Amino acid sequence: MSLPTTALINSKLPDVGTSIFTVMSALANEHNAVNLGQGFPDFPMPEALIDAVDKAMRDGYNQYQPMQGNLQLRETLAEKIASLYQTSINPADEITITPGGTYALYTAMTCLLRPGDEVIVFEPAYDSYIPGIVINGAVPVRIPLQFPDYKIDWNKVRNRITPRTRMIIINNPNNPTASILREEDIQSLRDLLNSFDQQTYILSDEVYEHLVFDNLPHLSILRYPDLLSRAFVCFSFGKVYHCTGWKLGYAVAPAALMSEFRKLHQFNCFSCHSPSQIALASFLKDRDQYLSLAADMQDRRDYFLELMRPSRFSFLNSYGSYFVCAQYKAISDEGDFTFAQKLTREQKVATIPVSSFYTNGTDHKVIRFCFAKKKETLENAAERLLRV
Ligand code: PMP
Ligand code: GLN
Repeated sequence: MSLPTTALINSKLPDVGTSIFTVMSALANEHNAVNLGQGFPDFPMPEALIDAVDKAMRDGYNQYQPMQGNLQLRETLAEKIASLYQTSINPADEITITPGGTYALYTAMTCLLRPGDEVIVFEPAYDSYIPGIVINGAVPVRIPLQFPDYKIDWNKVRNRITPRTRMIIINNPNNPTASILREEDIQSLRDLLNSFDQQTYILSDEVYEHLVFDNLPHLSILRYPDLLSRAFVCFSFGKVYHCTGWKLGYAVAPAALMSEFRKLHQFNCFSCHSPSQIALASFLKDRDQYLSLAADMQDRRDYFLELMRPSRFSFLNSYGSYFVCAQYKAISDEGDFTFAQKLTREQKVATIPVSSFYTNGTDHKVIRFCFAKKKETLENAAERLLRV
């Protein structure tokens, strides 16, 4: 039964359906499948962080934090940024704590974009970007990453720049492709932005900042003052501390941009969950917690790939994030959504079809696996996947 309505709905997002993560997780639950689809760890978050939240609540930190976020937490983040990226950020007016990375991205788009503005977005694109552009009346300018390395073709980008280009969205490390940006990409981005007059902003989604493998560096926009001067950089604590359900993150930007961000944030959210901010302010001081993440996740990646070596899947490179993509051409010529659904129903392993991240449905017959899982989960999944 649904409520009757007399309202006529002229949707602002007519092309948006249910997110592929929700669709595949629901299918996984329905079929009792191992879920390597939606990106979340199935191992516990740090016990000490749970204790710290518990303590914060018992110590009485249960009322509003300041709109910008807990000051100690912002100060600790500024220290972390200084030590990792050698950039000095003012915690007073250049960091804001947000209810998750997605919210930070959306708020940055909303405070900068005007109807008719163009936004460069690379496909496959994380699913929240294009709706965030469209709802603001701006126009997504979609540029495909080059298959199978998923690198940016900077000449293509140059050809799509117009006087209306207001923003470029980058995602490093990239979800779903697990590619990362290299020095030459940073230089190309810089050259591009310097070569035309209009004000174009960078929106840099770096929620997987600590998940870069094989001793490669994470080339955060925070490292480059010239690029940072026109950027919002967005992060998620959920990815760092294995607590995606906490939905807590932050944005970093120069004060003038952050001031616009906060105009929106103060009315859309005002302030975030208090005890977890108190807990994170102290927990973040333990640098090993985040510095050890890449090795741990690389280990899981390698374990999964080794288990899958005899399979008929052809794995693409995973340099960062907690995902790895694979082509299944040797197994089937079905579309990737059909293939992923069948895999869930028949082999009981859920994955994510990568065509969902393209608006034109480009289908390279690639699915994405999340390896942020216990080893036994990966073994269980691999055993089933080796049968196909
Ligand atoms: N960006 C990317 C690329 C992601 O994969 C995710 C998380 N799943 C987010 C943003 C959002 O993070 P949060 O859950 O903190 O909103
Ligand atoms: N970011 C997660 C992923 O890529 C999913 C988050 C969500 O379900 N919105 O799988």
